[in-house]
Formats: sequence, C-alpha cells, structure tokens
Amino acid sequence: MVIKPKIRGFICTNAHPVGCAANVQQQIAYVKNQGDLGDGPKNVLVLGCSTGYGLASRIVSGFGYGAKTLGVCFEKEPSEKKTGTAGWYNTSAFHQAASDAGLYARTLNGDAFSKECKQSVIAAIKEDLGKVDLVIYSLASPRRTDPETGEVYKSTLKPVGQAYTTKTYDTDKNLVHEVSLEPANDDEIFNTVKVMGGEDWELWMQALNDADVLADGCKTTAYTYIGKELTWPIYGHATIGKAKEDLDRAAAAIITDYASKGIHAWVSSLKALVTQASSAIPVMPLYISLIYKVMKEEGTHEGCIEQITGLFNEKLFADAPETDDVNRFRMDGKETNDATQAKIKALWDQVTQDNFHELSDYAGYHQEFLHLFGFGFDGVDYDADVSPLADWS
Ligand code: NAD
Repeated sequence: MVIKPKIRGFICTNAHPVGCAANVQQQIAYVKNQGDLGDGPKNVLVLGCSTGYGLASRIVSGFGYGAKTLGVCFEKEPSEKKTGTAGWYNTSAFHQAASDAGLYARTLNGDAFSKECKQSVIAAIKEDLGKVDLVIYSLASPRRTDPETGEVYKSTLKPVGQAYTTKTYDTDKNLVHEVSLEPANDDEIFNTVKVMGGEDWELWMQALNDADVLADGCKTTAYTYIGKELTWPIYGHATIGKAKEDLDRAAAAIITDYASKGIHAWVSSLKALVTQASSAIPVMPLYISLIYKVMKEEGTHEGCIEQITGLFNEKLFADAPETDDVNRFRMDGKETNDATQAKIKALWDQVTQDNFHELSDYAGYHQEFLHLFGFGFDGVDYDADVSPLADWS
C-alpha cells in the first residue's frame, strides 16, 4: 500500500510504518550521541510508552541507560487494508531496535486504567524483571473508565470560573480567529480530574506495591504542563490544570504512603510541544507555532527526546536535584522564563491572519505534526508500496 497522510482537523488518521521507524531511530541516535549518562534506572515501567513524552522516556531508559523497559500503551493494530496507529509502529520499531541492541523490551497494549491491565503488568514484572525501580506515568487520554464502578469519565478543555475569548489558529482551515470558551461547570471539572488527575497514578503505585514489585527507593514521576499567562486561561488555570494540580496531591500522597519503602515521587513539568495530545487543545497550535519561532531563534528549542534526556540526567538521576516550591521537577524554564515569554507575548499581540506565517514557525509545527505520524522524513520513500503490517513480540 502507498501511504499518504490523511489529516482530519487536528489528527492524522493514518500512519507510515517506515516513517515512524525513522522517528524512533532519530531519537535513539540522539540519546546514543549523549555518551555515558552515568547511573540510571535498571528496570523501568513506562505507562503511555508509544508516543510523545512516554516514548522518549522509554528510549532514554533503554538506549541511554541500558535499562529493561516494560511499556503499556493503547494503540490500534494494523490490518492488510488499514494502517495501525503511529504508536503501534513506534512500538514495533522500538522493539526491533531493542532486539538489535540486545535490550529487553516488552509491551502490553491495553487500557492502563483497568484492573486487568495492572494485573497483567504485575505478572510480566514477576516473570521477567522481579521488581521495577522507575515508573513513568505518561498517559494522555480524553476518557477513563473507573475500574471500581465502570463509569466512563470524559475530560473537557474549558476555562474555570469565567468565559475566555482568545486567538487561536485553525490548522484545518488555515485561519487565525477568535474563539470564546464557556467556563466549565463543576461536573466537567470533576470529570477532567477523574481522567487526567492523580487517582490512576496512585492506583498503579498501590497495585505495584501490594504485589511487592517495587524496588526499595523506586522512583516515579508523572508529567505535567504548567505554562505561563498566555496559556493559563485554557491550560494551567483551566479544567486540565485542575487535573494536573491533583497530580501534586497524588505525588505527596505516594511519598507518604510508601515512606517505609523510600519511594520517591515527583511531578515533572515539561515544555509545550507538538504531540497527539497537545494538538487537540485549542490555542496550543498557535502558541506552539510562536514559541517554536522564538525558541529556535534563541537556540533553546527542544523536542521530547531532549527534554526527557535532560529530565533523567539533571533531575531524576542527579545527586540532590533542584525542585520547585511544590517539589516538582521543572524542565520548562527555557519556555516559561520572563524574557522568552515577553517575546512570545509581543508576537501573540501582533499576530493576524495576514502575518501568521511570517511571525510564527507554523512550518516547523506542521513538520513536527507530520513526523508524529511518520510523514515528512527525508530518506523515506513515500511513493513506495509498503506493507502496513508490523508487530512486536
Ligand atoms: P501522547 O498523546 O503523545 O501519548 C499518550 C500515551 O498514552 C500514548 O502512549 C498512548 O498509547 C497512551 N494511552 C492513552 N490512553 C491510554 C490508555 N487508556 N491505556 C494505556 N495507554 C494509553 O501524549 P503526550 O503529549 O506525550 O503526553 C504525555 C504526558 O505529558 C501527559 O501527561 C501530558 O499532559 C504531559 N505533557 C505534555 C506536553 C505537550 O506539550 N505535549 C507538555 C508537558 C506535559
């Protein structure tokens, strides 16, 4: 099959297996180029291992530190007629590269929020690893089925407290326009916290602890985005921000609950970049196109793999790493510092339909968006007939 991108709104509904493999290989090459990263994890569980920040965490663990990685993701398998999701192909490519390098890798594809998935992971750890010494929580999902009640909760992306009108860029229509977002009601806030808050992270740590598969001193981190004034109304101070605040509560609870085992838990704040999760958030395509412009000019632009290499090296596995006042690791300083934000704000205020492509790095945004699905890589023949089938064992 010849596979060309099928873009519908903020999502691409297909993926290219060879291009996804190129994406994974580029990230592996980056990590290998860093040289010796020093001491790190040995047995890592990555929840949300197939794309974005979770995939980068798996690559850094495996190829940066030689760790065994057990991953969990929720991806669609390809058929003869239909491509799989990018995360499926990324996982297949990761397994291939790990096998070539003699690295252990195992991936379970299923609903990480379910009890069954937790039990399967525990069984896999007992079979293959004994215990894990690092748990990465990098799930991004629009819905979650509560494992106790079976109730399905859906997250909403809405402001909290008051309506908010702002600029946004419609990637489908190539249109800069104003968008008015009504404030969320209490139910919507509650549901978003149920999906993206800390409850499931805590359930994972509880299940792993009860099964005695956490090594003494095991580290765990969940990822957040904090941002600044430009994104606060729709992110930091909005429904998703409320869910992310709940991660801070969960981190503190995990530390207290497993103090006797010396479990370390942190929320890690990462920079905004194009992933399948962020492209679905109103305002983010415009904001990210502007920060890419500014940060590339400043020479501070980073993707998932650079951010996560830094997180492991400078924070998770550093001696006495610095945290912020709520015990979070901050990897977002190059984006959120006042000088950089002032430049972004100046562009934000000026941006119109007419000057958008000149003031922003939408070309860079779009290129990275295509890369998420394995498109737009040099050296990949997109006219070639390729099999959509791929697997891992
Ligand atoms: P992503 O969409 O690229 O990855 C999400 C991962 O979760 C995938 O591996 C997917 O398969 C998995 N997943 C989703 N639902 C699942 C389920 N029910 N069961 C098992 N796996 C499931 O997202 P991302 O942008 O890498 O986000 C990961 C984390 O990083 C999120 O907490 C997000 O808020 C945070 N973060 C993102 C950004 C950004 O700009 N993208 C910035 C800072 C922090």
